[in-house]
Amino acid sequence: MLRVGLSGGIGSGKSTVSARLTELGAHVVDADRVAREVVEPGTPALAAIRDRFGADVITDGALDRPALGRIVFADQQARRDLEAITHPAIAARTANLMAAVQATDPAGVLVHDVPLLVELGTSAEYHLVLGVHAPVEERVRRLVADRGMAEADARARIAAQADDDARRRASDVILDNTGTREELVDAIDRLWRERLVPFARNLATGQRAPRPASVRLVDPDPTWPEEAERLLGRIGGALGAAAATLDHIGSTAVPVAATDVIDLQLGVEELAVADDPAVIAALAAAGFPRVPGVDRDNPKDGAPWPKRFHGSSDPGRVVHLHVREVGSPGWRRALLFRDALRADAGTREEYVALKRSILAADAGWDSCLTAKEPRFDAVHDRIEEWALATGWSPSAAVGGSA
Ligand code: ADP
Repeated sequence: MLRVGLSGGIGSGKSTVSARLTELGAHVVDADRVAREVVEPGTPALAAIRDRFGADVITDGALDRPALGRIVFADQQARRDLEAITHPAIAARTANLMAAVQATDPAGVLVHDVPLLVELGTSAEYHLVLGVHAPVEERVRRLVADRGMAEADARARIAAQADDDARRRASDVILDNTGTREELVDAIDRLWRERLVPFARNLATGQRAPRPASVRLVDPDPTWPEEAERLLGRIGGALGAAAATLDHIGSTAVPVAATDVIDLQLGVEELAVADDPAVIAALAAAGFPRVPGVDRDNPKDGAPWPKRFHGSSDPGRVVHLHVREVGSPGWRRALLFRDALRADAGTREEYVALKRSILAADAGWDSCLTAKEPRFDAVHDRIEEWALATGWSPSAAVGGSA
């Protein structure tokens, strides 16, 4: 089951997206509704609220939200006490709803509609996060015209929520709802067909998404590092302590012109960890299935540089996840390559020129850049010289596990 997080500021069109995804066949779990359900009359959470806050917050057996609101908005400890009651109840009910979908439609798409996903920082809990965007002035206009909200109220609510930049960083896909409703629906339908449905199917079968037929260089994209951060968060969350190091590596980490592949490196204490069936299964469930048959780098010194290799089930994002032993030559070189290219413009240019000449001759994956590694020997010599001259060491370069 594909877990999709859906977020959007008030008035952005999130409800419209959620409704369309439901029509297309997604199973939507609405976080606001769950939050209301867990405090309905007769629930343990409502009883606990009554015990803590007194009978004044209950009217006719139901929660009196304005009365409770007056208490918790004025008193931080009261708010923490309320959250200690509601959060576990919400988490348990959400987990139940998700488990029910997993049981009935394991190859389906589950959409968790969470208005505050960005503020909560929970992107790593999903395979993919969708953010809905509309310009602030348009959102104010819609909220006033369609929902009868006072303009000042609409502006205050928008200002209290995550801004566009934070939403973009948390989202794998931004649905732009600046235009008409029909344009939004078209974009959702396309996303459903081209990305969500095949992603869900690949996850259910533990398969990698097919990569584009040909490889070409694209200009550096400033959002690559943010994208890598989200992916690394998911891998770290899936593996826990089995992940000793997690890093964005390769051209997109520098960044320089690249083939639009996010290269990631997972460092393990020994390769036996990577071959643990539980680790392989956890990575596949997170959307990064093992690619069999890729078990070494092309070494520069003639010795084998063993590794494991995982791809991505997401047809919208090519990922190469290299799993190497911490401290091994291949692990070290990946980090050094990134840091040296970041630091040295001359090496960067030499490397990109070489890539361009290789790709101009042949743009197929089978003979893609890693297979041409001997041609990069001069670049690697230059990088090693840089490491010596600067005293570079990998321990300062790695990211820990999430
Ligand atoms: P949210 O759930 O993000 O608060 P809604 O989906 O309820 O936002 O949209 C806010 C209001 O704007 C609703 O009345 C909705 O019908 C309207 N709306 C949504 N998208 C568009 C659009 N593209 N053009 C015009 N109105 C829209």
